[in-house]
Amino acid sequence: MTYEFNLTEAELDNILNSQTRQIELIGPDFEGYQALPEGDKKALTHLINAANAINEVALIQDNPHNLSALQYLSENQSSHAKKALLLFQSFNGVAGINGIDPKPIEIFKGVHQNPGRNFYPFDITSEELADILIQMLEEGKTIEVQKILSARTMVERLGNELKAIDYTQYFEKQFSYIANELEVAAHYTTEHEMKDYLSWQAQAFLQNNPEMDSIADKHWAAMQNNRLEFTVSRENYEDELTGSILENPKLKALLEAYQIEVCPKDTLGARVGIVNKQGTDFILKSKETLPFLADLMPYKDRYTQKIEKTGKQTMVDVDLMALKGDYAMCRGGITTAQNLPNDDKLSVKTGGGRRNVYHRQVRFSYDHERAQKLLESLVAKEFHPYYQHEADHDMVIGHENGHSLGPDNSFKSALGIYSHTIEEHKANTISIAFMSKVAEKFGTYTNEDLKRIYTTWIIRLFLKAKPTLSKPHRMADLIEFNYLMAHQAIFFDGDNKLHINFEKIPEVMYHLLEETIAVQLSKSPQIAKDFIEKWTTWSEILQYIAEIQEKLGNKPYIQLITKF
Ligand SMILES: [Zn+2]
Repeated sequence: MTYEFNLTEAELDNILNSQTRQIELIGPDFEGYQALPEGDKKALTHLINAANAINEVALIQDNPHNLSALQYLSENQSSHAKKALLLFQSFNGVAGINGIDPKPIEIFKGVHQNPGRNFYPFDITSEELADILIQMLEEGKTIEVQKILSARTMVERLGNELKAIDYTQYFEKQFSYIANELEVAAHYTTEHEMKDYLSWQAQAFLQNNPEMDSIADKHWAAMQNNRLEFTVSRENYEDELTGSILENPKLKALLEAYQIEVCPKDTLGARVGIVNKQGTDFILKSKETLPFLADLMPYKDRYTQKIEKTGKQTMVDVDLMALKGDYAMCRGGITTAQNLPNDDKLSVKTGGGRRNVYHRQVRFSYDHERAQKLLESLVAKEFHPYYQHEADHDMVIGHENGHSLGPDNSFKSALGIYSHTIEEHKANTISIAFMSKVAEKFGTYTNEDLKRIYTTWIIRLFLKAKPTLSKPHRMADLIEFNYLMAHQAIFFDGDNKLHINFEKIPEVMYHLLEETIAVQLSKSPQIAKDFIEKWTTWSEILQYIAEIQEKLGNKPYIQLITKF
């Protein structure tokens, strides 16, 4: 198959040379790797093989053209193709959003991203999907419909109907290879818990049975004292089609009557790395603050908080060797930490714990020179010393823990398409609102530290473009920026330079948290929509900030440098 480039060589040069930032993962010379026993080094080799096979699965799930386009680019020796290959690797696919332009960037002419990705027939619309499902339900084919709406099936046409194929069958070739590599890794590793987990995970790749995923997830989430890190991520954010069928009221009613759950499809990802002991000890200290914070939460008598229910939360700080599949689809960003499994997974629903993994190499990568220029352009001089990139980590730890506090999933998911924005915003708000209380109670931070955390966070709220609901983290930033402005916790002087009223931050953020929790408790998508609309207006100062950001050069594309 041949493809025609959609971007000129000059456009690709511009993307690769001035809009791409690199994130360097660890290599064989890394001290923590060299210190490992031989058995664990061997295990890691096989885990990386498994991760590469998971990448192939994710490419197939994402777009029907991915594999053939990748082959086309790899075999084509022209400089144009070599540059296009680098962009393909950045998206880990034929197209992606970059977080600034409103439309996806497409590498080839006529090769588009689809809301249903490759999980569904490529030509199907939300309306047709709903019509077919209604017809199938009316004919009593409830089991088939259930399979079509499962998180772990690929869907194909079958005459006028659809049929679902379980991942273990559709990806049988890749999954049996992955299972085998995991078994070999389990054989070599010196770590007992890892050995156990890998054996269960291997079984989960072989059996058409969500119970097996759940057992594997529970073993994975419980690991706290290991040096090896291996994750199979299953997240459903890429699939934008499945959830949309609920817009059809007739189908919605039928699905409710038959009690059929609508689950967006999981894209697979794989992460391989080594747990950093010192970094992990630091993060673990924050765990002690959770019961204290749960008690400070607004309206705490009106819900059961996750930490009270499970209390099973592990946390590790990881030096990364490989990010593959979903993790490597850098489409407008890359994650610095991730708490899995998600609430929709069987293991969590049946009392299993969660594991929060922080990404060290992602966290460490930043452009010092640009940050300095941003300060000079937009921040009053007296606040410059408080900007410190490392202070962002403290805010992120509070954010991740914030996800474990507040109303449970039944409240959160009731907000529909607004739920992600409200939830990410809640997590930010908890982190900042309680930072001074944590400092006071646990002695973790001095007053100067707090000023550094606040300042660094506020400067991170300087947006590069007006966000939409598909970017919940950026929407959250915008809400907080506008709220801080409206309550005079921050302001801009006549020269458009930022000033911060440090004393006001905890109180203003606590009020914002009260309003936010009330939105979640309302279970009303309309109330969530009104709240978001009220606080996401795009003002003159925001436009000015975005223009400065553009002048300094934005780097929305990411190139992962992998050495294993
Ligand atoms: Zn979050």
